[in-house]
Amino acid sequence: MSEIDVLLDQHRGARHDASSIPIMPRLSTVVVSCLDARVDPVHLFGLAPGDAVVLRNAGGRVDEAVLRDVSLLRVFTAAASGGSRSPELVVVHHTDCGTARLGDPTVASAVAGPVGADADAVAAMAVTDPWATVRHDVGVVRGRFPGQVAHGYVFDVATGELLTAAECETTA
Ligand SMILES: [Zn+2]
Repeated sequence: MSEIDVLLDQHRGARHDASSIPIMPRLSTVVVSCLDARVDPVHLFGLAPGDAVVLRNAGGRVDEAVLRDVSLLRVFTAAASGGSRSPELVVVHHTDCGTARLGDPTVASAVAGPVGADADAVAAMAVTDPWATVRHDVGVVRGRFPGQVAHGYVFDVATGELLTAAECETTA
């Protein structure tokens, strides 16, 4: 049995019906987090279908792709609410992140090569100190979208604790 068969079996058991869920999420929150299977925001925050948008990549880094999606969500949320709502960003990095391996130049080159990326840029995605990287990434968001409400958290995989690393409320 291949893994797709496992997934399709679980899909049939899940019976997920999205037909009655509005396209705009219940919360305007946008969570950015690592793709690590242990650190799924659905479980971290007890999210149900339709609750919030989750953007995931290696490390949960705020890169250009994430910034583009945040920009889209800011525009769509404002349009859907007549300008009364704007997304609240939550960036979560975590301890024991696999991206730390990108600090090895051989690994960074192996990742960068097939996609034509710069190995140094790939190495810079590494989360070796989640406190430092999450604060940096909240700063990147605030630099691109002045006044954007953004929160930074570190999830400790050893204890299950979600710890506050940065809080940035709307500036006047
Ligand atoms: Zn990770």
